[in-house]
Amino acid sequence: MLKKLFKPFRLPLQRKEPEQPTVLDAHEHRLSCADFNRNSANVAVRLQQAGFEAYLVGGCVRDSLIGVTPKDFDVATSATPEQVRHEFRNSRIIGRRFKLVHVHFGRELIEVATFRSNHEQDHDVANNDQSAHDASGRILRDNVYGTMEDDAQRRDFTMNALYFDVSNDKVHDYSTGFADIQRRLIRLIGDPEQRYLEDPVRMLRAIRFAAKLDFEIEDSTAEPIRRLAYLLRDIPSARLYEEVLKLFLSGYAVRTYELLCAYDLFAELFPGTAKALIRNPTNVDRLLRNAFESTDKRVQTNRPVTPAFLFAALLWPSLTVRAIGLQNDGMPALPATQEAAHQVLLEQLQRIAVPKRFSIPTREIWDMQERLPRRSGKRADTLLAHPRFRAAYDFLLLRESAGEPTEGLGQWWTEYQDASDSQRRDMISNLSGKSGAAPRKRKRKPRSQKSVQGQE
Ligand code: ATP
Ligand code: MG
Repeated sequence: MLKKLFKPFRLPLQRKEPEQPTVLDAHEHRLSCADFNRNSANVAVRLQQAGFEAYLVGGCVRDSLIGVTPKDFDVATSATPEQVRHEFRNSRIIGRRFKLVHVHFGRELIEVATFRSNHEQDHDVANNDQSAHDASGRILRDNVYGTMEDDAQRRDFTMNALYFDVSNDKVHDYSTGFADIQRRLIRLIGDPEQRYLEDPVRMLRAIRFAAKLDFEIEDSTAEPIRRLAYLLRDIPSARLYEEVLKLFLSGYAVRTYELLCAYDLFAELFPGTAKALIRNPTNVDRLLRNAFESTDKRVQTNRPVTPAFLFAALLWPSLTVRAIGLQNDGMPALPATQEAAHQVLLEQLQRIAVPKRFSIPTREIWDMQERLPRRSGKRADTLLAHPRFRAAYDFLLLRESAGEPTEGLGQWWTEYQDASDSQRRDMISNLSGKSGAAPRKRKRKPRSQKSVQGQE
């Protein structure tokens, strides 16, 4: 959303004459106010009625022009956050570094941002501590207000800098956004290298939009990416986590993955996995693709997806490489896998801050992979009742789909889930002497806890 991602564009120090935008009429762009979410349009109308400039902007205008349903709606206005807050009782100012107003309508939320200034050229605010860059040009603080034109220059891509006026259905275009949308081109506003230096996450955004919209990345926007991919190492891991979710959980993960690899960005996000890809390209690539394909299908059919499964898949190749290494050093298989899981997660968390509520289930999915082959006695039923069983089973099928040998374990579990109690008993007793049997049987007192079989 705007708060974390919206960063300014730095122009040369001299002050420019204000540029007139191209104003497109409804008959040219074919959008009307009715195409937008009612609440967001109402927010803009109310602000205009209160005497401010206010427009729908960003992804919602872009997506509506393309015929895609927008994910969220942003309003840009000349009103300060305090003035916006004053207009809407149902609103809240959020953020300190970058103040925004959230206007709430039940569960829906409209984000309202004040036009930001291109403060580098503004001598009045030079050395002001409202804004700052580090030595490489990266933006550290960003809270200077400005005109609509300033605001347009500071957005990332031309297609994201279109302003829809709800009062007359006109689109204001300060760059070449409308034409670029028609040409299906992703083009950075301003000098691409400088814009990536200011905010390297824009490289990931270019890839995300290319995958989502099936647009090309314009040559000069694409050119610096491979060279500057390393800049992602400086991005806070919490921000990268959010970006990675958007990259892989928006329904276009396969294409996103291909583009990330093509632009050398994948290795910056998942260095261990990238190394595993070099070692064993066919199987690792197949595992990742299959995981992304099924994630995309789930997203497209509105079924739930969990980051835990996504990270389990993304890091599995690097886990297995590491586990083999530890085993070669003499560690037994089980502790080697656990140690590898620990190391891989720890390393990945330096780059991408996966919250515990997802990294713990990721580990559980992995741990279950060690337990799924051991099905004798009551173990199979205990596993079946495990809250993580479904994800672990899906993960087992994923591993098999990528060519990992498991001696038909997935098929066995598929049948076991559909089997009657007596069939299940037969399946377990047929395991004797096979790999699923416990290595040695200990006599145990019957458990007081009821098993599935015990309920007959
Ligand atoms: P979507 O919501 O579909 O992911 P979006 O373009 O709306 O796409 P948001 O992250 O919601 O993306 O950001 C809203 C707008 O804010 C963008 O359209 C763009 O104009 C601006 N913006 C976001 N991130 C950046 C950034 N890193 N640099 C410059 N402008 C940005
Ligand atoms: Mg958006």
